[in-house]
Amino acid sequence: MKSNILEIQELTVSFDGFKALNKLNFSLETGELRVIIGPNGAGKTTFLDVITGKVKPTIGNVIFKGKNLRTFSEHQVARLGVGRKFQTPRIYLNLTPRENLSLTFNPNKDVFATLFGRTSRSENTTLGGLLETIDLIEKADVLANKLSHGEKQRLEIGMLVAQSPDLLLVDEPVAGLTDEETEKVGNLLINLAESHSIIVIEHDMEFVRQIARQVTVLHQGTVLCEGNITEVQNDPRVIEVYLGQEMSTADT
Ligand code: ADP
Ligand code: MG
Repeated sequence: MKSNILEIQELTVSFDGFKALNKLNFSLETGELRVIIGPNGAGKTTFLDVITGKVKPTIGNVIFKGKNLRTFSEHQVARLGVGRKFQTPRIYLNLTPRENLSLTFNPNKDVFATLFGRTSRSENTTLGGLLETIDLIEKADVLANKLSHGEKQRLEIGMLVAQSPDLLLVDEPVAGLTDEETEKVGNLLINLAESHSIIVIEHDMEFVRQIARQVTVLHQGTVLCEGNITEVQNDPRVIEVYLGQEMSTADT
């Protein structure tokens, strides 16, 4: 039986009385890859902010691996195993991908084993394994400022993985990428989903179609509906909330 890595109950977040999230209920199975979509202002970023401990619930609970996160700081939540990738890559441009990755490696966990379910290897093998996973072996020793936008995104995803999180939160990983790079990032996330639980926020419907099994639609701070991509795209409620907004081009 699969357990839920994340369980969100009746979550409300008020900013000066305005409910950015409103009685939101959500659960994610361990090992699941979930995509969250929703029009501007739906509460997507706030949703991630609450999971990482940056914003505290006004009402309701976030339960991660059975622990209520209410009393945990952002730092403690990260240490518990929640990793977040922001929209803009946060990498060291004056270092190479290899150097960037070795900086973030979690010395307490065996990433290679986490990634591929194998036994312990030396750090170099582990680093090499990760470089291969993010498809940057050939660029491993080039300064990061020479990388394309898509390569930087993959490097940052790699840096997140290097910390061995159990849950990866990824905010709009393909905004501004070419079709080819978008597909590569999609394949990387599918690959990582074999050994991680992942939540991706994304607007690009082509991309959502490529990676998504289950999609959650947020609207006005609550879950409007859930289902596979075809179900949600054809749901009259979803079509209504996206009226006047291009589903594939809305920004955050
Ligand atoms: P999304 O990412 O889906 O576009 P957000 O989570 O950024 O939506 O925002 C949801 C709503 O909450 C928006 O109306 C936004 O203006 C409001 N909001 C977000 N953060 C704050 C804040 N710190 N103070 C006041 N209002 C906020
Ligand atoms: Mg947002």
